[in-house]
Amino acid sequence: MNYRHAFHAGNFADVVKHAVLALLIERLKAKDTAFRVIDTHAGVGLYDLTASEAARTGEWHQGIGRLWGAARTPALEPLLAPYLSAVAAANNAAEPAPLTRYPGSPWIARHLFRRQDRLTAVELHPEDTAVLEAEFADDIQVRTIALDGWLALGAFVPPKERRGLVLVDPPFEERGEFTTMLEGFLAAYRKWPTGIYALWYPVKDLPAVDAFRIGLAKSGVRRLLRAELTIRDRDSAGTFNGTGLVVCNPPWQFADTLETLLSGLVPLLRQGDGADFALDEIAGE
Ligand code: SAM
Repeated sequence: MNYRHAFHAGNFADVVKHAVLALLIERLKAKDTAFRVIDTHAGVGLYDLTASEAARTGEWHQGIGRLWGAARTPALEPLLAPYLSAVAAANNAAEPAPLTRYPGSPWIARHLFRRQDRLTAVELHPEDTAVLEAEFADDIQVRTIALDGWLALGAFVPPKERRGLVLVDPPFEERGEFTTMLEGFLAAYRKWPTGIYALWYPVKDLPAVDAFRIGLAKSGVRRLLRAELTIRDRDSAGTFNGTGLVVCNPPWQFADTLETLLSGLVPLLRQGDGADFALDEIAGE
């Protein structure tokens, strides 16, 4: 396990993923009944943007750094509000104060929760697990678990609340992770077909991305939405060109929400020719 998210926290992929995560949580809050977020690859929760890891890559400057304190379109503002409220809370500051911290997925989820909502945050890296546990120590709404996220994906669904969201956000540092994600998702879906699932993937190895999409399309699972944002030409050789999310069981009219979000984010996050977004149904109703 070489991957450490501290080098990448707040990059363009995190911006898209976390803005969508926050919007999904806000939609779950439309009903009073409790829900659970299961984060199978949770990271440490809160990242120090002044630490050497973040400074070495500087990736966050091309991600949250492009949004924070920037002029944004009125259409984008309400869609970024839940996400940016978590970023502000993590920094204990409002825009445009300098950013020193970045909230990861478990922190964002917890920030947006009501009293009745719960988080199961799973992480396998021993050092990250310790930091994650410390971050949420004594928080009765959060359960942190040191476990393989792929095992957790199969074991923790359906949650007892019977409402909620599973975020699957692996590092993609090993070959075959698209296959692992496809199989893991399908097994979880069979156990809990009414949950919302958000599956993250990098747009880098295009044949693997296509195979994942074809595998999902052939699976028979309905209500699958694919959202991608590319910061330069999708097929630029050898670089991390874009970020993808498959949302299963999206909330009502969520595709329209994503279209407004992604079209507004492209000009803010673009790093070259060919920056764009794609949004379609892999499988409909
Ligand atoms: N979800 C986090 C967020 O959005 O803030 C970021 C997660 S990062 C992309 C992937 C995480 O998965 C890393 O923290 C890594 O240590 C962890 N990881 C790697 N293999 C894992 C496994 N088999 N089970 C659980 N976590 C794993």
